[in-house]
Amino acid sequence: MSSVQIQCTRCKGVFRDRAGRLQDGYSRQCPGCEVVLFFAEDSQHPFIKRAMRDARKVRKELREAQAARRLAPEAPTSRSSDGRRRTVGRSE
Ligand SMILES: [Zn+2]
Repeated sequence: MSSVQIQCTRCKGVFRDRAGRLQDGYSRQCPGCEVVLFFAEDSQHPFIKRAMRDARKVRKELREAQAARRLAPEAPTSRSSDGRRRTVGRSE
């Protein structure tokens, strides 16, 4: 959910990493060929750029989802509890 797909610039292998970690200055090793990939906002490589963009999008969505949850009003507590009203004086 909160992870993004990363494609290795060397072996073209695809793996995933958490969007929260994929930020400017982050680096990680490819599990396939063990090359170290550097993630920078000004990277010129399309694979890196795409991963950074995806991570940014996922982080934004997560933030918005959290904000929406916070802003959402609490479930309204009904003060009058007349859900089960009993019929009084029900005579034949
Ligand atoms: Zn690789």
